[in-house]
Amino acid sequence: MSPPRERFDVVIVGGAVVGSSAALFLAEALPPAARVLVLEADPSYTRCATTRSLASIRHQFSTPENVRMSMFGTQFLRQAHERLAVGGEPPLIGFVERGYLFLATAPGWPVLASNHAVQRAEGAEVALLDAAELSRRFPWLNTDGLAGGSLGLAGEGWLDAHGLMNGLQRKARSLGVQMRHARVAQLVRQGRRISAVVLADGNRIACGQVINAAGIAAAAVARSAGIELPVQARKRCVFHFSSPERAPGCGLVIDPTGLYFRPEGPGFLCGIAPPENEDPPCDAADFDVPPDWFETRLWPLLAARVPGFEAARLLSSWAGHYDVNVLDHNVILGAHPEVDNLLFANGFSGHGLQQSPAVGRALMELVVHGAYRSLDLSAFGWQRVIEGRPLRELNVV
Ligand SMILES: Cc1cc2nc3c(=O)[nH]c(=O)nc-3n(C[C@H](O)[C@H](O)[C@H](O)COP(=O)(O)OP(=O)(O)OC[C@H]3O[C@@H](n4cnc5c(N)ncnc54)[C@H](O)[C@@H]3O)c2cc1C
Repeated sequence: MSPPRERFDVVIVGGAVVGSSAALFLAEALPPAARVLVLEADPSYTRCATTRSLASIRHQFSTPENVRMSMFGTQFLRQAHERLAVGGEPPLIGFVERGYLFLATAPGWPVLASNHAVQRAEGAEVALLDAAELSRRFPWLNTDGLAGGSLGLAGEGWLDAHGLMNGLQRKARSLGVQMRHARVAQLVRQGRRISAVVLADGNRIACGQVINAAGIAAAAVARSAGIELPVQARKRCVFHFSSPERAPGCGLVIDPTGLYFRPEGPGFLCGIAPPENEDPPCDAADFDVPPDWFETRLWPLLAARVPGFEAARLLSSWAGHYDVNVLDHNVILGAHPEVDNLLFANGFSGHGLQQSPAVGRALMELVVHGAYRSLDLSAFGWQRVIEGRPLRELNVV
């Protein structure tokens, strides 16, 4: 193999929202002479999770660190207009602030209430509403069988995921980050260090630090350095429908059945988390949407929860891939104990878009300071994975 012709201080594998966020925070924090390179296998970004996301942000998690990360995400999004402007031109992020509404039956109520306590302790603005209050606030909602719900009062909502990614990339480039079209085929490991990355065309690039931000391909990247990362691809389908029911004040509603829906322009988006026994690891090329899903699975649930959705009409649909951490549905963040200069940010399990600002900042802190400086995210480190000690997130959508 030929020796590396180039060397970068930090090489980031994957240039979607997490890789770009890390690149931006690094470019801001490192000395101007530092060299940061992002390698992206598919610069069209048409298949990555970022582009196919539902692009929503919530503070309603069961894990305190997840609440904190999303609260920082909101702060970042609120300032993105100025923070990501280049040459006076702001990014097009389209952040709409509207609360999530988690609905619960009587058996689900204690979990909702205990998550609520966690969220309130972190400073999240959330309210528990009983069924009567739900009916009063949302007259279009059928509250039969519900004990109540948890409503986000501020800071939650949705955005243009592609717009956020573009904004991060553009700002990072303006600060000197290099972004190249290349697929990383292998990480070259020498003992406790990654000495170089090998590209699919055979070229090698020497590196100081490497960040694995390769989404569902992260396990393959890790394996090339002899590390088993418990992250698998799982297919998730999203459906766009129109309805004469406008559901005023509707945010992102999560039904006890797993159904979710939220407004998108004049219509709505919806989907459902499949039951575990129908959720096998999926092929990276599988973007097929089961043709009868909307009619047979979603529409009956939609019409049951919002009678006005009886007249819903499917407009379009798409599939994307969650990078699921099969241990506990939480990100695996930071270095593996056996390799010092390889940082992971993988296994977001459906909440990586909203966590990307906090994770980008966290990765920067690990590279620049060797430790977390703002949010302590060490609970998401490798130790729990190695010990098989899950830090399970209960609010997985
Ligand atoms: C249907 C759906 C709905 C979602 N809804 C939400 C939501 O509402 N809110 C939320 O916060 N999150 C949501 N998510 C999750 C969120 O989209 C992801 O967690 C997040 O986008 C992950 O970003 P990423 O940059 O890590 O990965 P990705 O966006 O998957 O990007 C990984 C990148 O790495 C590149 N790559 C892979 N291998 C290599 C290699 N060997 N060399 C070079 N490049 C490589 C890929 O081409 C890709 O561009 C959703 C996901 C899906 C699929």
